[in-house]
Amino acid sequence: MEKAETPLQQVQANIAKACTIARREPGEVTLVAVSKTHPAEAIRPLLVEGQRHFGENRVQEAQGKWPALREEFPAVQLHLIGQLQSNKAEDAVALFDAIHSLDRPSLVKALAKAMDKTGRRVPCFVQVDVGEEEQKGGCPIADLPALLDQAREADIPLAGLMCIPPFAIEPAPFFALLDKFARDHGLEGRSMGMSGDYETAIKLGATHVRVGTALFGERG
Ligand SMILES: *Cc1c(COP(=O)(O)O)cnc(C)c1O
Repeated sequence: MEKAETPLQQVQANIAKACTIARREPGEVTLVAVSKTHPAEAIRPLLVEGQRHFGENRVQEAQGKWPALREEFPAVQLHLIGQLQSNKAEDAVALFDAIHSLDRPSLVKALAKAMDKTGRRVPCFVQVDVGEEEQKGGCPIADLPALLDQAREADIPLAGLMCIPPFAIEPAPFFALLDKFARDHGLEGRSMGMSGDYETAIKLGATHVRVGTALFGERG
């Protein structure tokens, strides 16, 4: 009898399949395992399986869980995927290896100040409000060029663009739009795709997929 695949192996296999269909190399896609709300005991098995990139949406929650796990697994790369308040910028820069939610000029200022102070220059994705839904955060499409200029002037390393498409409608057009914006602005990274749509996102150019439920099960 074959051994049952783990959720991580299933997601990795799906990523590989989507890459084959899109004529891309699996190495071009980073799987960010979104561990928000899940305790260290739920995260450790994935670390043991070899997963190294993890996403959290709250600075305080990550500060509680990750320092201890990092002592065990020093190669961990932490991604902040949730909205960031300017007054938490310094904590975020100290803890995270990438920030996916840069979305406004005041945060450019706060992050630049935090990076100058800590000496850590953390790569940032600019989150774009592709669905024009303010509650999810994200920079309005019309403001994107100016925000990118501000980030460059402030010496913030730009990893790429990020989006969260509107819920329950076909996400592909939004992924295609983010891919186009990234190309127009000469940016490498495209952080897009979650449990329900990461394969679609990969076919449309995702470099970072943020997958929670498919790896950890439903959040309580
Ligand atoms: C929670 C979250 C995810 C993961 O969503 P799943 O549907 O559980 O895979 C991805 N991106 C962001 C920004 C999130 O907040």
